Amino acid sequence: MRWKELLNPLDIKTPICKVCGNPIKYDNFHILFHPNTSICGSCYGKFEILDERYKLQNCPTRILFRYSSEIKNSIYQFKANGDYELREVFFEYLLNDLRFEYRDHVVVPAPSSPESDAIRGFNHAEELFAQLNLPIVKAIIKTSNREQKEQSMEGRKEIGKYFALTKINKIRNKKVLIVDDVYTSGSTINAMIKLVKKAHPKSIKILILSKQLHNQEDRIKYKRN
Ligand SMILES: [Zn+2]
Repeated sequence: MRWKELLNPLDIKTPICKVCGNPIKYDNFHILFHPNTSICGSCYGKFEILDERYKLQNCPTRILFRYSSEIKNSIYQFKANGDYELREVFFEYLLNDLRFEYRDHVVVPAPSSPESDAIRGFNHAEELFAQLNLPIVKAIIKTSNREQKEQSMEGRKEIGKYFALTKINKIRNKKVLIVDDVYTSGSTINAMIKLVKKAHPKSIKILILSKQLHNQEDRIKYKRN
């Protein structure tokens, strides 16, 4: 009997990495103790972990990864192709930590337009962070279908104009966790914080999957915040 079977006698089939499609090798401790792991060590190793913490509008903010080409491709596959199972790969190694840190919170996902939800069949931020097993309240909705990527930097600053606050009673006096997949200019998150504050929650924290660092200068500025 191989040592893998000794450790994991009920799971005889080799799991397949959801990113590269290769069988997962039992070559690191995490995989040994998590037999249903979704990503191989090699693919996860390509995700550049930032795990940066700072404050946005006085709200504790945590950003997990740099928006690298590997993260970008996986997010794209998840969002555009509706590759629902891929959501697991981003949090594979962090889930227990995140569930502990954000226990007792209600999740407010960054809104996507109802039209793109209909095309994809799901709201990506909501689905991505559903794994935290926290109640999800779609308290911020998009009132216009203008996609952020089609807008200029100036236009992005105005994004708050296209958001509206709803379900106020479900976040009032609650610990709110605002989540999004990619942080680019910060306009979405900043607009969301402003609106959520109007509902008088007990506290607000921010959790973002990845952040785009534009250049070296930006990296330095980012470190200082
Ligand atoms: Zn892989």
